[in-house]
Amino acid sequence: MKLAKGEMPEPSDAEARRAIRPVICYPVDSLVPPDLASYRAAREGWEKVGEVVVPPRDARTFEVPAGSFFRIVSVEGPQVGDLDLWAADNINERFFSGKTRALHGTHLSTGDRLWSCLPYLRPMATITQDTLNWYGFDQYGGSVHDVIGTRCDPYTHKLLSGQDYHHCCHSNLTRALAERMKRPLAEVEPAVHDVLNVFMCTGFTRDTGQYFMKASPVRPGDFLEFFAEIDLLGALSACPGGDCSTEHSSDAAACHPLLVEIYRPEAPPVGWTSPERNAYRGGHGA
Ligand SMILES: [Zn+2]
Repeated sequence: MKLAKGEMPEPSDAEARRAIRPVICYPVDSLVPPDLASYRAAREGWEKVGEVVVPPRDARTFEVPAGSFFRIVSVEGPQVGDLDLWAADNINERFFSGKTRALHGTHLSTGDRLWSCLPYLRPMATITQDTLNWYGFDQYGGSVHDVIGTRCDPYTHKLLSGQDYHHCCHSNLTRALAERMKRPLAEVEPAVHDVLNVFMCTGFTRDTGQYFMKASPVRPGDFLEFFAEIDLLGALSACPGGDCSTEHSSDAAACHPLLVEIYRPEAPPVGWTSPERNAYRGGHGA
């Protein structure tokens, strides 16, 4: 929390210190950029091999083999989705929202990758198309598909309101994963992790730096398309916040389903190989 202006005296060179130019923490120039033309060419003649409807205020899992694509599609009305990803054969390897943010920025779009956690740290998926790419950043600093929020959850809701609510995205994802793994809720809950907030429009307020949301610009027919770099298990929750224009963690908002479509190309993209786990093999200087 920032102290009120005037609480601490400014040093005489305060403005000079503020005027220092920032540097990018993680320049990504050394990363080989995704060959989007090759990915797009692989869509020619692809076959839709599956779809999953995610009911409002609930979640469903889905699987996508390495080399295939999936789309998260808006149907019926504006709706935000919370996406978790795991390596299909190892749920210890999961999407790393924080490092993805550090590498690509607060909001993701075409060409950005979803990275897995340490010690794996490899691309799990690449975003190959985003129909909301036109949105950019609005006058409030808001944009879509963020990796800054975490997921609505019943613990924070209890903390702030004293109420129990059982259809937060965290709970929806936990139930869906438990059902998929055929394991108890408490056993799989730690595998549920910070999400990609699909279609959600968010930012930080300029004066207080607080996380804000606003009505999503998504409309039926919009989609976010991913290429699976490794075999994936995914879970998507249709957030109880609906378009997140007012509140979440309640049954107050109008909610809609989301559709997940899975597409198998005739052949993998030319030149593509599934990434190996990170080459650092531990040691940590010990
Ligand atoms: Zn949510």
